[in-house]
Amino acid sequence: MRRKFVAGNWKMNLNLADAKALVKAIQAGLPAKPGIDVGVFPPFVYLKSVAEVLPPSMIMGAQNCYFEAGGAFTGEVAPQMLKDVGCTWVIIGHSERRHILGETGEVLKKKVKAALAAGLRVIYCVGELLAEREANQTEVVLRRQIREALGADVTLDSVVIAYEPVWAIGTGKTATPAQAQEAHAFIRGEIANLYNGSVADKLIIQYGGSVKASNAQELMGQPDVDGALVGGASLKAVEFLGIIKGGIAAPAGGK
Ligand code: PEP
Repeated sequence: MRRKFVAGNWKMNLNLADAKALVKAIQAGLPAKPGIDVGVFPPFVYLKSVAEVLPPSMIMGAQNCYFEAGGAFTGEVAPQMLKDVGCTWVIIGHSERRHILGETGEVLKKKVKAALAAGLRVIYCVGELLAEREANQTEVVLRRQIREALGADVTLDSVVIAYEPVWAIGTGKTATPAQAQEAHAFIRGEIANLYNGSVADKLIIQYGGSVKASNAQELMGQPDVDGALVGGASLKAVEFLGIIKGGIAAPAGGK
């Protein structure tokens, strides 16, 4: 069975005091053994301080990393540096990195490989723009994004895919559970083609895009939706705990 994974991507939000207070408030409301994975992804500069208050029941990761191990790369952060401050995960290929910061598939592949080589686990984000969905290009885009960064030279044991339709991120327009399920089933099928059925069956695929406490259980109740990558709603403990509750209540998928 696949274990659900609910992750909060804090993006460029909060201040140091609020970041630490948020972790403590999530911990206070989290069951001792939630039975699902719960993670927070603070801005780089707060990682070490958040690690100091992070309970064992929670995971911490970064929102990005560079693909080189070190050197003259002003402003960049190496995967090993993230490990040094307590990260076990990193998000790669978030739509804001692709579409605002201009990261290409070629760069993202290097990042995925470098993060895995350093021993980090990776949330690799994929998702179509509204114009691509309207032009019936969703599957073409998802296939391209999967094949750009994953494949024979990348093992998937430490990789989670997040399906995040760009039109649903931060817009309040959530994909319907049926739309999410359709895209997740397609992604799982693509992974089966690229790897094999057993790898595809084990792969955790999160949904992201305006997830809230009120829609979390229904979304995560879809057979191929194994968790959520949450932006805005992860900044409020009560809302994030409501999403976690939805993940706990939703049945696990897979064999
Ligand atoms: C995200 O940034 O990954 C995200 C899904 O944001 P939001 O939940 O705010 O739509």
